[in-house]
Amino acid sequence: MLFREIIGLEDTKATLINAIRSNHVAHAQLFLGNEGTANLTLALAYATYINCENKQPTDACGVCSSCVKMAKFIHPDLHFVLPIAGNSKITKPKTADFMKEWRTFLLQNPYQNLSHWLTMIDAESKQPSISAEEARGILGTLSMKSFEGEYKVLIIWLPEYMNITAANAILKILEEPPEKTLFLLVAQNLDKMLVTILSRTQLVRVRDFEEAEIQTYLSTELDTPLSKAQQVAKLAEGSLLKAKELAEGISDDNQIIFRDWMRDCYGRKIPDLYAKMEVFAKKSKDEQKNLLLYGLNICRESLVWQYAGEEIVRLDGENLTFVQGFAKVINPNNVGYLSDYLSDALAHLERNASAKIVFLDTSLKISNVIKIQA
Ligand SMILES: [Zn+2]
Repeated sequence: MLFREIIGLEDTKATLINAIRSNHVAHAQLFLGNEGTANLTLALAYATYINCENKQPTDACGVCSSCVKMAKFIHPDLHFVLPIAGNSKITKPKTADFMKEWRTFLLQNPYQNLSHWLTMIDAESKQPSISAEEARGILGTLSMKSFEGEYKVLIIWLPEYMNITAANAILKILEEPPEKTLFLLVAQNLDKMLVTILSRTQLVRVRDFEEAEIQTYLSTELDTPLSKAQQVAKLAEGSLLKAKELAEGISDDNQIIFRDWMRDCYGRKIPDLYAKMEVFAKKSKDEQKNLLLYGLNICRESLVWQYAGEEIVRLDGENLTFVQGFAKVINPNNVGYLSDYLSDALAHLERNASAKIVFLDTSLKISNVIKIQA
């Protein structure tokens, strides 16, 4: 992974590079960021940079022997500790058992989450952990001299999953680190980390991606059409993972479907609504959720349109035309209800309620508020 492969975050990259160039490398660092942020990719780019044989001012060279191995995650001085769980073949697993899967995982898409990882390794338990044996194994590995690189680098992904014994073993080595050894902890949740570990690491905060960055990612990496990329970027809450899921699940027709749905609600066309709910219920869960998310976004934008006018609304083309029309039936009195109903529907779907009932119930509630208030 190279810094230039990560979209945006120029400040964070510059800080990381400056620390290396000015020889102020902290031996233990905690890359903290939400799911779908660049916490892991930045740690990987940092590890690549520090061992690059021909460092450039803003990035690793990408072509030296170290960079080539780093890009494939096969550098002998790059080590990983990951949360894992046994599967039908391996009952007492170690990270080393799953290195092939981990490389594939990273090469496929480095912005995935723990649940994707557990699926990748066919984990039988949904309660993964980093074991004490694993942690002790690290001590052994890191006490050896580096093979090729200047630094041995250990990336611990999601150290939140270390149990106390494992954390204590790691702590020991953090207190007396072997020379030229870097510990890069990649975490999401500060509250789940042991204070003693935290106090020995330097914090690198990785912010959520901005809308424009997500839009760039969707357009360049996933070839998402512009209008869809704009729509998804607004809904992705700073997460490339969520953006990808939305981009793959979101229907180009959401605008038309939502518009027709609202028209039937407004007109109280009950038979039409029943028929629609049959269709909605057959959609995938992601599509159902995306439709609701789209609706929530439209509610928000319609209000903005009423109060601030066109220049503030972040939509274009047909979506904008729809918002202008929709703004006529929603107002400050009913928009709160509408948003609540859509959010409630989302929550019910998350809890596996029957989609047909959820959508029907939501339709009836919506038709009450937009009819009365309009
Ligand atoms: Zn290089």
